[in-house]
Amino acid sequence: MDKISVVVPCYREEDALPHFWNALKKVMTEEFKDVEFEVLFVDDGSSDGTLGILKKLAEEDSRVRYISFSRNFGKESAMYAGLENSTGDYVVVMDADMQDPPELLSEMYRTVKHDGYDCAATRRVNRIGEPKIRSFCARLFYKLMRKITKIDIVDGARDYRLMSRQMVDAIISVGEYNRFSKGIFSWVGFNTKWLEYENVKRVDGETKWSFWKLLLYSFEGIVAFSTVPLAISSIIGIILCLVSFAAIVFVVIRQLVWHNSAYGWASMVSIILMLSGIQLFSIGILGQYLAKTYLEVKRRPLYIIKDSNIIRREHNEEN
Ligand code: UDP
Ligand code: MG
Repeated sequence: MDKISVVVPCYREEDALPHFWNALKKVMTEEFKDVEFEVLFVDDGSSDGTLGILKKLAEEDSRVRYISFSRNFGKESAMYAGLENSTGDYVVVMDADMQDPPELLSEMYRTVKHDGYDCAATRRVNRIGEPKIRSFCARLFYKLMRKITKIDIVDGARDYRLMSRQMVDAIISVGEYNRFSKGIFSWVGFNTKWLEYENVKRVDGETKWSFWKLLLYSFEGIVAFSTVPLAISSIIGIILCLVSFAAIVFVVIRQLVWHNSAYGWASMVSIILMLSGIQLFSIGILGQYLAKTYLEVKRRPLYIIKDSNIIRREHNEEN
């Protein structure tokens, strides 16, 4: 009998969790006849009653496992913890806010089990109900990512996906600290089938992603998967050298022929300002990569567990 692990990162989801659990339970009993389930909730250091709800669910239903972090480590860490501690032959990552329709589960499972894919992933074909400026920036980001990295990130791709054990193990083996899962999913390879669906509004509570958080996250993605920004300063440097060479030739000829090179105070100031700007910008880019390297070499754990009802996987295998 196959076993599916459902990994659910939750951060302050006390309002959405009951809806989610009911919907998932319905799908698990109605659409899956001979499949065993394990639902692994990862409480990402919520300050509300999320953990209390999870404990209650675990008492009611033996399929429920939970891990609770000592503080908020972010969705990336929560997903990693879920994958690392899952035991199923297939693992699906799912948001707790019902934006990932549970009805797609059975189709995803069939795709991986019978159609020879390693992964069934989902993408939203529209972004109805989302602020316009946010959708615009998201599109721009995906476009840029596709241009400057070698990995292919599909527009509107969600983290909602069902993967084979083999692929999950590959993802776990990528143990980097600055995690950008959409990139890692694509980087590990394997055959992925994309299922499409219309955007669904979150059922309750509100999104935990501010515009600012998203912007920083997009930097994370670029720095993690591309070194193109590092080349930008070299390119600008070469162009400026060429320009200044032309300017020198111009000034020398003007002095020799018309004897009047000694003006242009204002233009000088503008040029100096612009060059200092470019220099600081380049140093800033260097700094971004240095900072990421710094965090990476410290090898801090991705998460710290405070409370849980799981038996760690390594432990399981020993017994
Ligand atoms: N989440 C998390 N840690 C965080 C932020 C979010 O585990 O620091 C979880 C959240 O509970 C939800 C999922 O990640 O299950 C997606 O978050 P959200 O719905 O806020 O993001 P959106 O769907 O708007 O991208
Ligand atoms: Mg959401």
